[in-house]
Amino acid sequence: MHVKRTDPEHVGEEIHELIERLYPICRSITGNGVRETLSILQQYIALEVHEVPTGTEVFDWVVPKEWNIRDAYIKDGKGRRIVDFHNSNLHVVSYSVPVHERMGLSRLKAHLFSLPEHPDWIPYKTSYYDETWGFCLSHNQLLALEEGEYEVCIDSELSDGSLTYGEYFLPGKRTDEVLIYSHICHPSLCNDNLSGVVIATYLAAWLRDQPRRYSYRFVFAPGTIGSITWLCRNEERLEYIRHGLVLALLGDSGKFTYKQSRSGNEEIDRILAHTLRHSGCDYSVEAFSPYGYDERQFCSPGINLPVGRLTRTPEGRYPEYHTSGDNLDFVRVGSLAESFSVCRDAIMAIESNACYLSNNPKCEPHLGRRGLYRKRGGDSDFAGMEMALLWVLNLSDGNHSLLDIAERSGMPLWEIASAVDELLLVGLLRACEGA
Ligand code: ZN
Repeated sequence: MHVKRTDPEHVGEEIHELIERLYPICRSITGNGVRETLSILQQYIALEVHEVPTGTEVFDWVVPKEWNIRDAYIKDGKGRRIVDFHNSNLHVVSYSVPVHERMGLSRLKAHLFSLPEHPDWIPYKTSYYDETWGFCLSHNQLLALEEGEYEVCIDSELSDGSLTYGEYFLPGKRTDEVLIYSHICHPSLCNDNLSGVVIATYLAAWLRDQPRRYSYRFVFAPGTIGSITWLCRNEERLEYIRHGLVLALLGDSGKFTYKQSRSGNEEIDRILAHTLRHSGCDYSVEAFSPYGYDERQFCSPGINLPVGRLTRTPEGRYPEYHTSGDNLDFVRVGSLAESFSVCRDAIMAIESNACYLSNNPKCEPHLGRRGLYRKRGGDSDFAGMEMALLWVLNLSDGNHSLLDIAERSGMPLWEIASAVDELLLVGLLRACEGA
């Protein structure tokens, strides 16, 4: 397996290297680009690939025809490829039907899309549920087109096939699950969403080697139709999902944004707010809204799972979003490393957030006799650790989780958790049933 290190110094570089590898692939909501991407991820984690046939009904939707593309171009009157799919797969509107025709500029222009406000960037456009074709190009390229006849070719295929998604399951001590979801349907765009895909892969590879209280399920599937398909096929399993997180847009240099679950009051909402508060990074927390990525499906009323979403700058709020400006330079090694660390810390918080009972609840136990009191006198962490011990002993009455204790004491959960480890060692604490 390829994951060598997960220390903050190198993990950002490794994540960026995997993004570089996946960047050239032309992905869409179905097709060989998704399969190729998943097969590269299989070199990192042993994920299972599922194929769901075209025409399968999934709630109110139907799995669409599979789309594949070999080539596409616009040639000018002299036969020169002035727009070439092989220079950027963003040039073709995703799900374009095949076309091979000659036409004049005015007819062609009805099928061309550009961004006048960013004249060097190619926009990213899709046409999943509308059988049409189109090209995206920079506005400067568009302005340079002269009157005349053009040869237009999209060598694509829309046919019965399947929708492909990947799933990686890591069993834990409990059947209760944590779901991590990342959409995998965008072509050569880095932040949206290779950053989410690769960070989820690295989290899975790290978790594989950790002791786990919860079971973990990582799903890599296309946006919207992928999560709808997955939810429809796994409805009987949803009751096991205790916490979930949609990961996307984690490589830009903006601050973190945590989007709460539908109720806004789930453990995952508190865990993410707590982790971000103690991360030293800038962040904001936003309430749920029914617009965005796959949290829309997980948080639909009949599903209503405790699933939040972590991004840096949210979709549509940075100019490079859904354009060729979202490239390998746009995603930063430092941002990727920081995002990985925040996700890992959130998982560690989920893992350690249990309830304990003090074995000595009548007055304070004698800590000095057990080597816990002032054992590190002069040490700057000393006061913090002592306070953590006292808070844990006081609130471990079976009614307070470690997150409750962390929030009440104002201390990070990992300090509270290490106080718990010390108290367990000397027999002053025991885990509650089911912890
Ligand atoms: Zn997107």
